[in-house]
Amino acid sequence: MKIGILLGDDIGLEVVPECVKVMKAAGERSGLGIDWRPLPIGRQGHKELGDTYPAVTARELRELDGWIMGPIGHNAYPRNDPTWMMPPVRKEFDLFAALRPSRSYENIKSIHREVDIVFVRELTEGMGGGPEFRPDDEVTIAMRVISRKGSARVAREAFEVARTRKRRKVTAAHKEPAYRLSCGMFAEECRKVAREYPDVTFEEELIDTISMHLVTAPQRYDVIVTTNQFGDILTDIGAGLVGGLGLAPGLCVGARQAMAQATHGSAPDIAGKNIANPYAMITSGRMLLEWYGRVFGEAKAVGAARRIEAATAEVIAAGVHLTRDLGGKASTTEMGDAIAAAVLA
Ligand code: ATP
Repeated sequence: MKIGILLGDDIGLEVVPECVKVMKAAGERSGLGIDWRPLPIGRQGHKELGDTYPAVTARELRELDGWIMGPIGHNAYPRNDPTWMMPPVRKEFDLFAALRPSRSYENIKSIHREVDIVFVRELTEGMGGGPEFRPDDEVTIAMRVISRKGSARVAREAFEVARTRKRRKVTAAHKEPAYRLSCGMFAEECRKVAREYPDVTFEEELIDTISMHLVTAPQRYDVIVTTNQFGDILTDIGAGLVGGLGLAPGLCVGARQAMAQATHGSAPDIAGKNIANPYAMITSGRMLLEWYGRVFGEAKAVGAARRIEAATAEVIAAGVHLTRDLGGKASTTEMGDAIAAAVLA
């Protein structure tokens, strides 16, 4: 398996190495050969090659199965300078779905117990950065694009993920009664794909109703699939439900490649102090292995992912090596070391 290492900025320099450390341990234990390719990006890319998204990185990514992407500190980049841009990786590699798990742990403070949801958010259409225009200073028009292809492929991803889980249930979140054509098309495609997966339960819920249920009874959901902008909002509700940004991993998925990227930003306020929580990055890396195992039928990758999952749960349950946002006193490296040690044990 060929995996790129892109550190990103600020706490990326601290959490990405922990993720790699744990994945290396899991690869070793499971007999999965991983060819690691460090590639410059962000401030490092600018310093070494004059660009936050160097051409060599863009080129090399094409050769990889996936990569670990640290957070990019784009908020602090100089404006209006094309050499300081947010790398347009999702778009360039047509990463069309974001998988965002939201899972509670017994001894970590969260609003609800026994939450275990995977959100599957469409990433390429909807209103996410879509066309807007202002015919005069009193009116602004924003457009939402929904396609059959975009809807069907994200729905299929959701059903494939559901098949790997115990409850095997997909809930499509939309608002068809109000947006008959756009949400209507999304819902139609979800229903069509659902027919190909008779072993997975399928239900639909209106976006407003699901927003309320996520707050009052999140345990009823397994996999939730939705369009880009609804997904943007729901996944933040999901992160809030189970303890915040340090616990919010993510995987952006394309047809043949995937990118592990935590939901949190580069958190410059805590960078360089060795206190950032590496959980989200480590779990994103685990999801990359899971995805690879599922898509390419590689049992060793699935095995490596299971080891990381068990080791992470064990370290959290022991409650000794936790970073301060989780109520512990451990440093970033101590928590990463503890998870890597549990993987190897
Ligand atoms: P961006 O706009 O780049 O997505 P943001 O402004 O939303 O970033 P983050 O960089 O994600 O913000 O950080 C928000 C807050 O959450 C920070 O103040 C930081 O202290 C905290 N935070 C984020 N990630 C972590 C982490 N891995 N461990 C601990 N705290 C974190």
